Amino acid sequence: MDYDVVIGLEVHIQLLTDTKIFCGCSTRFGDTPNTNVCPVCLGMPGVLPVLNEKVVDFGIKLGLATNSTISEKNIFARKNYFYPDLPKGYQITQYDYPLCQKGFLDIDVDGRTKRIGITRIHMEEDAGKLIHDERQDLSYVDFNRSGVPLLEIVSEPDMSSTSEAVAYLKELRQLVMYLGICDGNMEQGSFRCDANISVKPKGALDYGIRTELKNMNSFRNVQNALEYEISRHVNLLEEGKQVEQETRLWDANAGLTRTMRTKEESHDYRYFPEPDLIPLVVDVAWVERIRKTLPELPRDKRYRFVKDYGIPMYDAEVLTQQSDIADYFEACLKFIDTPKDVSNWIMTEVLRVLKEESIDIAEFNITPKMLSDMITLIKKGVISGKIAKGVFEDMHRTGKDPSLIVDEKGLLQIMDEGVLKDKAKAILDAHPKEVKSYKDGKKQLLGFFVGQLMKETRGRANPKLANKVIKGLLEG
Ligand code: ADP
Ligand code: MG
Ligand code: ZN
Repeated sequence: MDYDVVIGLEVHIQLLTDTKIFCGCSTRFGDTPNTNVCPVCLGMPGVLPVLNEKVVDFGIKLGLATNSTISEKNIFARKNYFYPDLPKGYQITQYDYPLCQKGFLDIDVDGRTKRIGITRIHMEEDAGKLIHDERQDLSYVDFNRSGVPLLEIVSEPDMSSTSEAVAYLKELRQLVMYLGICDGNMEQGSFRCDANISVKPKGALDYGIRTELKNMNSFRNVQNALEYEISRHVNLLEEGKQVEQETRLWDANAGLTRTMRTKEESHDYRYFPEPDLIPLVVDVAWVERIRKTLPELPRDKRYRFVKDYGIPMYDAEVLTQQSDIADYFEACLKFIDTPKDVSNWIMTEVLRVLKEESIDIAEFNITPKMLSDMITLIKKGVISGKIAKGVFEDMHRTGKDPSLIVDEKGLLQIMDEGVLKDKAKAILDAHPKEVKSYKDGKKQLLGFFVGQLMKETRGRANPKLANKVIKGLLEG
């Protein structure tokens, strides 16, 4: 039997605020455990939380970027449960009155566009972090993370394949990074995803029973976990068994999911309005103030690049991965009007250097003008594309302008047919055996001779002309 796959995602993003959501403690990652704590985030009795306004700003920002309705009336709620990383015994979150509702995100998968509904986005606090030391059979708890602000983004069950789920996550991650509200780091857990998945007989109206998957800290893990879980569901149904509604943990090493706990219901949490915080009113002025700060969104930028610059969608995707790279690309186009050439150089050489040296484009010493000037030198035939690679390295090493490097090193391309002819003759004279083979029909030796000529000119011969000259001498 054929099955439909149904996936809905819950994403938690850690917000890039300096301080926590209900106290003034730092949110910095990686500090000595339990140094960024105070009575509020440690849940001491008698203390009062005070809402960090920036968290609301960020939530509105994401709400607007996902076409959501921003709620005027916001109520915080207590979600009660016991766990050693939660000293208060409850988490402050939003329940009936989330900050954003009924939004959507458009994603592109396999050349199609699909609209994924966003049910809600709400603000909440993170819990502390348990660190298990298996050698000592001990667990430690670090409360630096408790009270770090989160947004939870809950999608509709609108995704019908693992590739759609991954595309949605990538789009959302890029979006929150563009908005500057989250660093998107999945390994360190600032962008985390829980995946709800079910299957049903093809075309059936009712959804199947779902499981919720946790512990996937990369796109690859999400993909693998979902694929594993889909086939586990299908196999159960094929055997006439039932899927159990539960929360399962992905074990990346073993490549499988394991039961973590049976699914809790919301009434288990005894949600009730947080008595220590007054209702939060987000008025139109606040929303409009935030709307003015929205940057061009990644998907809009991607489509604009294709439309305005005539580059392939693939290039546009790579270039807009980070907005500062996209800005660099556009800055180059102030000096040169061949976008595809610029795109090629950025996608290969520039991104390679950034990666090798683990630096941002802001720290990269080749300015848009230098790169564009160098590409212009190729266009004008002053240097060959091959020589340009070396010029690029020199620019990066010395910070000098490309034309200066070309002058100083005598890298001017040899376009003079007479000069190349003389050199080519000498090469043919030095290789009588190869010349004879060529004349006997071994035409592929042409490449050998051209190679020799390139070597002789240290790559400066114009490749087309080199070919022509050698061919002329051998066949003339
Ligand atoms: P909970 O409060 O238990 O987390 P929700 O109703 O808020 O449950 O749903 C959580 C997520 O599960 C949402 O992203 C939703 O789209 C998804 N979801 C709900 N039902 C299904 C289903 N049958 N199959 C797959 N995903 C589902
Ligand atoms: Mg859930
Ligand atoms: Zn604190």
